[in-house]
Amino acid sequence: MSRFLSKRLNSLEPYVPGEQPHGKKYLKLNTNESPYPPSPAVLAAKNKEENLQLYPDPDAGLLSEVLAAKYKVNANQIFLGNGSDEVLAFLFQAFCDEDHEICYPDLTYGFYSVFAALFGLKRNEIPLKADFTIDLGDYAFCGKNVLIANPNAPTGLSLKREEIEQILKTNAEHLVIIDEAYIDFGGESSVSLLERYDNLIVVQTFSKSRSLAGARLGYAIASKEIIADLKKLKFSFNPYNINSLSMKAGTAAVLDEEYYCMCCEELIQTREKTKRALRELKFTVTNSDTNFLFAKPDGIKGEEYYLALKRHGILVRHFNTERIRDYVRISIGTPLQMDFFLEETKKILKGSK
Ligand code: PMP
Repeated sequence: MSRFLSKRLNSLEPYVPGEQPHGKKYLKLNTNESPYPPSPAVLAAKNKEENLQLYPDPDAGLLSEVLAAKYKVNANQIFLGNGSDEVLAFLFQAFCDEDHEICYPDLTYGFYSVFAALFGLKRNEIPLKADFTIDLGDYAFCGKNVLIANPNAPTGLSLKREEIEQILKTNAEHLVIIDEAYIDFGGESSVSLLERYDNLIVVQTFSKSRSLAGARLGYAIASKEIIADLKKLKFSFNPYNINSLSMKAGTAAVLDEEYYCMCCEELIQTREKTKRALRELKFTVTNSDTNFLFAKPDGIKGEEYYLALKRHGILVRHFNTERIRDYVRISIGTPLQMDFFLEETKKILKGSK
């Protein structure tokens, strides 16, 4: 810490990203990245970018248009960010303060509480039920903005569209932000509700199903008024938040629907197969609609299992909080990678007996 640090910054507890090791080669099943490379069309498009001497389009016009066509909305209903993390940061900053509080579940994506602290907001964290599901009653007429990851992370569980609709109906005077980072792996998207609810904001990302975590692209879809508010904030802060290479890559990724569907289908099949195999090994595993499994091993402590996997060259994420005792979150890789993961898991379980 330098002697110049402000008191406010000193009090923050920053987000701790998952390990991104350099050097030793691990099978990385710890940060929910896609195991597949981006579409070949993406790589070709990126190499064709010829105008790097120019600033990028601050409105991300072309990318907004292809996204708008995909979701059947207008381009002025799309806001692009440097990853959905940045979109969420803009949402907290634009729409939340002491008079407009925000609430979200506990447990959920760890960045929400980091943003709440960053923007000086009260942490209204609503516990999940014992089975990790969300109690809809907690959000009815709650008098605050609502933020829900659907499907939720790290539990992998999702709410149905009609359940999201109930939250929208009972909070008409507040914003309902649905973070759909993992929606392409089985959940029901709320995008179609945008027609009827002007208090809805849907946030999605290119980091998971589009294999572009490194390009940092996320977006919000909402009413044109909400998007105009977000642009006002962005143009007061960093108009060029999306670089030209990422815009080209993102545009090509959205247009290659066939490759995206192929990757999602294979990933879902691999997830289901891995879930069945882990349950046969007596793991407790939630019914995930995402590209990861949330699981607790039997006969070995979660932490021991996590460390043993690491020694075997596999990284997963270990969770051990007051509410969540000793779970691991396992990102889904290719079928071959998951075969290897299961083989090593069997060896670890055998060795621990
Ligand atoms: N929302 C959720 C629920 C996530 O798990 C993540 C990252 N893993 C994000 C948002 C952020 O994703 P990105 O910034 O890569 O778009």
